Amino acid sequence: MEITFIVDSNAGKLARWLRIMGYDTLFFRDIEDGLLVEMAMKEGRVVVTRDTQIAKRRVAANGSLRVILSRDDDPKRQLMQVLKELNLDCRQMQFTRCLECNRRLLPRSKEEVKDTVPPYVFRTQTRYMQCPSCRRIYWQGTHWQRMKRALEEIAVNSPGRAERED
Ligand SMILES: [Zn+2]
Repeated sequence: MEITFIVDSNAGKLARWLRIMGYDTLFFRDIEDGLLVEMAMKEGRVVVTRDTQIAKRRVAANGSLRVILSRDDDPKRQLMQVLKELNLDCRQMQFTRCLECNRRLLPRSKEEVKDTVPPYVFRTQTRYMQCPSCRRIYWQGTHWQRMKRALEEIAVNSPGRAERED
């Protein structure tokens, strides 16, 4: 079964990175601890938080809730920690999910996005994806390339990968 997440409000940028990687990741800007834990339990989601109180809860201690307690401020290092603790591969489902609303993106043809994307993008890009919820269109532009490079860096720096390749 695919791993899914719920990211606490104290680690919002991490939620976007997990979505970039294709993981189903819930994030709420303002959510009460009890509710966060309840949702995670009900949907079998891994909680990522910087809140030690959540990590100390009974359900976390007895293993019925998986909590990753992030010790870092930097979202990329937070991501590295999550990948390492869950032993996840960094390059499987990248760029398949909307960064804003977590929905799975749908492929769109050039013709379908013609009136929506800027002319320069239309001339230079051939592959497009669209979010069925917010209608945002994604393509492999410079922003996408930057994020891809960042993920590659994370993959290189993650100890799991190093062990496998040495
Ligand atoms: Zn969206």
